[in-house]
Amino acid sequence: MKTITVRASSWGSLFDCGFRWEGVHLLGIKSPSSPRALLGTAIHASTAAFDAARVTGEKLSTFDAAEHLVQTLRHPEFDVDWRGADITPREAEVTGLALHTRYCDEISPRYHYVAVELETRPLEIDCGGGVIVRLTGTLDRARIKRDAGGVGIADLKTGTAAVTSEGVAKTKGHRPQVGTYELLYEHTTGEPCTAPAEIIGLKTKGKPVAATGEIHGARELMVGNDQFPGLIQIGADMFRSGLFPPNPQSFTCNPKYCARWGACPYKDG
Ligand code: SF4
Repeated sequence: MKTITVRASSWGSLFDCGFRWEGVHLLGIKSPSSPRALLGTAIHASTAAFDAARVTGEKLSTFDAAEHLVQTLRHPEFDVDWRGADITPREAEVTGLALHTRYCDEISPRYHYVAVELETRPLEIDCGGGVIVRLTGTLDRARIKRDAGGVGIADLKTGTAAVTSEGVAKTKGHRPQVGTYELLYEHTTGEPCTAPAEIIGLKTKGKPVAATGEIHGARELMVGNDQFPGLIQIGADMFRSGLFPPNPQSFTCNPKYCARWGACPYKDG
């Protein structure tokens, strides 16, 4: 049997460019992170500390939680390439603090969270033909919320386009990750996610803006139904054959975003 471990956050990129996904997740090809990725990590660290304290009933003010943001920006645990960046360390701190404050003071209080970045039990799915897909990891950057509809996923997303021009969080591209979180939560706790999932978007470019957007049918996207196969089954076909389709038309087919660019024979450029 061949067991392939897939993190929830990587499903989207598997179907964006399978060849790059194989390079990063199976062959271990890595490239330095961008300053904006570091900014996202820093915002996640500070807001997660704030929400975790809310869940346990500890006192942690917006101001005190911001220290996690500053420390993460100043002492990253991974390589960051600032060359040619469109943001300076000072600007990253100012933007990050504005979004952190907005989130803690205005967005977080709207939710009743029951868990933050929950550790989950790995879920192994026998896809036939000798392939087991193993879903694993913490619910990175996600919260579990409870409301009148039951429990559901609330996933925090940062980025230059995390909020659309219509003023809602961008949900496009996030359904595979959220659907995997729903499967893992249900597998870990035995409780189904019955409330719609939500993306909480924090825009890191231009005026700092926060907004939310709902996601429906994420779990079904992953497991399929009698009308269509789920993404797990389609992914398993790639793992079984060892053929990972390249996508030179991808928006991220670019040396800035693709760690496999240098040795990729399929790139267009
Ligand atoms: S260079 Fe383009 S086609 Fe090649 S792996 Fe990267 S994204 Fe895919």
